[in-house]
Amino acid sequence: MIVERNDLLMNAIVSRSISSDTQITNDFLKVIQYLYKHNIFKNILDIVVTKCTVGQLTFKVQHSKFFDLDAGNCLTMIDDQGYADIKTHRKKYIITIKKVASDVIMHEIAHMLEQELNHIINLKDFANTLMYEVYSIGGQQLHMNSIVQSLFVEQVKSYPNSQHLSELFARFFQFFAAANELAFQSSLSARYSLQNAISIFPRTLEFLDSKLSDSWKVLIDPKIAAESAKYSQDSFNNKPEWADKRIKASNVGSTTGSRWKVKSNKEDPFK
Ligand SMILES: [Zn+2]
Repeated sequence: MIVERNDLLMNAIVSRSISSDTQITNDFLKVIQYLYKHNIFKNILDIVVTKCTVGQLTFKVQHSKFFDLDAGNCLTMIDDQGYADIKTHRKKYIITIKKVASDVIMHEIAHMLEQELNHIINLKDFANTLMYEVYSIGGQQLHMNSIVQSLFVEQVKSYPNSQHLSELFARFFQFFAAANELAFQSSLSARYSLQNAISIFPRTLEFLDSKLSDSWKVLIDPKIAAESAKYSQDSFNNKPEWADKRIKASNVGSTTGSRWKVKSNKEDPFK
């Protein structure tokens, strides 16, 4: 994949990224573009670019070959040097990426998202819904049980109790970013499709949908939403209804189009 550096959105991210060399920055951009292609994370990445554009977000990008997202390694931080905008009390963030992998990057971005959405989403309600589904896996999803238990139960135990809700939230997005269609140098070894991932968490997705559908337009610059629509990989599907959804999603001013609406597609939209 060739990273287009002459690109408005990627330039916005590059201008807010600090890394030890250009190769790491390039790899980082490749993953961002890769995630953008699949549309499911479009709104979230649009928020990332929006925040970069207004100077509210900085990435510090490193790359470790061997790296686990265990306690102490999660480093998305609120920059307490001050608010970017005193009037709106908008927070500034520093996201440290320690491994250039789609799921690691999405995990850290989700920690920022959690801060941005904490007045909209009750994390405890979110976690209750999520854990109900984690413990309800059976039938056709049974092959997913070990990865789900590992990600949401075993690994979380190593964190202090005070971070558990935050970790569950970040890991939910990480889980989707590690699906076969989205994984790029994933840190998870499990192989599962996006449709498998969606089938595990219908209630949690519904919970997020119900809370988030009105929030995107507040958080996303509509120009960026329109611009990033170009990344969507048309070749992955020829379905007009999916194309419609994409156009709606890019028009955040009037959207009801949470990207989580993907779950309502009976078939895998990426095939
Ligand atoms: Zn974390």
